[in-house]
Amino acid sequence: MRLALGLLLVATSLSAQQVGFAPSAAVREDSIERALIASPDTQSARVWTKALSRVPHMAGTPEQAVTRDYVLNLMKSWGLETWFTTYDVFLPQPDTSGLWLIPTAGAAPQPLSLVEPPVAGDSTSRGPQVLAFNGTAASGNVTGDVVYVGFGLIEDYKTLDSLGISVKGRIVIARYGRSYRGIKAREAERHGALGLILYSDPTEDGYVRGDVYPKGPMRPWGGYQRGSVLNPDGDPTTPGYASLPGARRVPFDSLDVPHIPVIPIGYGNAEKILSLLSGPSVPQSWQGGLPFRYHAGPGPAQVHLVLRVEQGARAMHPIWDTFGMIRGTTYPDQWIVMGAHRDAWGPGADDNITGTTTVLATARAFAELAKRGIRPARTIIFATWDAEEWGDVGSTEWVEQMADSLQLRAVAYINEDAMATGTNFGGAGSPSLKPLIRASTRIVPALSGPGTLYDSWLAAHRGDTTGLDIGNMGGGSDFAGFYHHLGIPAGEIGFGGPGGVYHSMYDNYEWMTAFGDPQYRAHRTAAQLDAVIISRLANAAVAPFDYAAFGTEMRDLVSELDTGIARKGWAVSTESVKAALDRFIASARAFAAARDSGLAGSLSTGKAGAVTRALMQVERRLTRPQGLTYAGTWFKSLQFASDVDNGYATLAFPTVAEAIRYGDAAVTTREIQDLASRIDAARSALEDARAALR
Ligand SMILES: [Zn+2]
Repeated sequence: MRLALGLLLVATSLSAQQVGFAPSAAVREDSIERALIASPDTQSARVWTKALSRVPHMAGTPEQAVTRDYVLNLMKSWGLETWFTTYDVFLPQPDTSGLWLIPTAGAAPQPLSLVEPPVAGDSTSRGPQVLAFNGTAASGNVTGDVVYVGFGLIEDYKTLDSLGISVKGRIVIARYGRSYRGIKAREAERHGALGLILYSDPTEDGYVRGDVYPKGPMRPWGGYQRGSVLNPDGDPTTPGYASLPGARRVPFDSLDVPHIPVIPIGYGNAEKILSLLSGPSVPQSWQGGLPFRYHAGPGPAQVHLVLRVEQGARAMHPIWDTFGMIRGTTYPDQWIVMGAHRDAWGPGADDNITGTTTVLATARAFAELAKRGIRPARTIIFATWDAEEWGDVGSTEWVEQMADSLQLRAVAYINEDAMATGTNFGGAGSPSLKPLIRASTRIVPALSGPGTLYDSWLAAHRGDTTGLDIGNMGGGSDFAGFYHHLGIPAGEIGFGGPGGVYHSMYDNYEWMTAFGDPQYRAHRTAAQLDAVIISRLANAAVAPFDYAAFGTEMRDLVSELDTGIARKGWAVSTESVKAALDRFIASARAFAAARDSGLAGSLSTGKAGAVTRALMQVERRLTRPQGLTYAGTWFKSLQFASDVDNGYATLAFPTVAEAIRYGDAAVTTREIQDLASRIDAARSALEDARAALR
């Protein structure tokens, strides 16, 4: 009975799922995936979470050496080859931070508490906490009238201009949301503000959204969101190359970092400041959830803001990336890399001990198989990154150090970041990996109840398969070095929910166990799904990319460029890009058909390896050495970039999209031609892959 059922499942997976495998290899892969799925458990996730999120473990602190050793010791005990890398990077730790409210000029300053208050029943919240500061903000000791700038976006400063309000020489307060905080700091500084206060409005993740912690999962009055205000990726003292001993360093006074102090506060303190502002009533979209009408100011309330952070050489600290490796048997020089950042602004049970424990559970699943003599065909590297929170620093430094090896060898990168704040399944990735991610959900059990993860995902969308969307990758995590900088296909999956404690002291074991993932089932399921995705990437004879799906999705996205061009009223055509993508899709379909008949025949290991090597060139050719024009040379991918005016949002075809936004019709035409010719170059890699099958 069991055997019959097994064969039935094998038949299904063969026809629709296991892309890139020879039919004769499907039974073996099926049994490998079953063994991998059986390995992750909820109890280990709970134990590791408790141990790794006991205290805040900010990058650059001794606590990060403790998490480094914890992860390395576990991986070593399971039999992986382990090592770690060290980089000395710019991480100015806070010495003091303080904020005083001056109700009107000349009144006595009232200190505002910048401590996140302990919560009943949450022993972690009574422990040590990181001072209120934003990473890489400057030291400052400033006093001034307060101006409320909404979300602090470029267009919000235009609105202030139209109201006749200048922020020059004043201190601005901006809401979190709608953009990365580094963009808010950049704009505040550009407009001449003396300092910036960032606060979490209750409409964002506070009581407007639900009960606040500890009654519910949402942000309480005194909870606040720390976080970096660095805009470039990686250590700013070594832009584009690794922070190794002896590396040439940008002088401290020339770093691409903010030059004003920036601190975060909760909405309890924000209420005290905002309620004292007069001036014009704000646009409706700036009105938040506090119980009064918001005004822009300036004043009459003033604040006195003090932030002291480490200066010069004192601000340089070592960070540690950890690695565990299982060497491949057939294609040891083709690497699958999985990674998650290990640092946090607080205890970080969700952000990002969830990712760290998922890497651990996935690594253990493969290690258990290896002990039984079942090793992957390709090499798998399991990494935990340091200093992601400061600007993807640990992963970026490693990618920059290893760029040549990764260009030659990395097949794909799977990232995990803050992946258990609820039960809503979601993912993001290169369009070439989306069919693999989707197919893998069909064999992983649902979080709870009967059926597969796919079944529950579909049920959450009321059976509408068009709702099973996998997003594209913008800014904000460790995939950036692999995907945006080197053009290596990348993906990530996870489970979302209301959140509410992001980058605060309350993102801890008690919160996770009460609200985020009380049964630790999301932890288990994420590791199971990652294990299946990685197994297919590591074991398929031909790497399971879907370039027909890739071309089709990119072809649809050209309409975004058309919309932008139409808005400008330019006579600029994207036909050459569309035609190049049509050719690309035709080549991808021809390749897929040839691959499947090759696999059904007798494709040799040598040929299959060469096919994968050719496929690895497709997305690398959709990068260009000089990078983007406006978002900076570090971003080299022509597929997607993070929006330079938002920081988190995704921009498709960034070289062209940027030209439409900041350039003119001639620049745009030039970029369209460049893109079309590079799509043709990527297509020729597909033709190389097809030729390698013969
Ligand atoms: Zn994170």
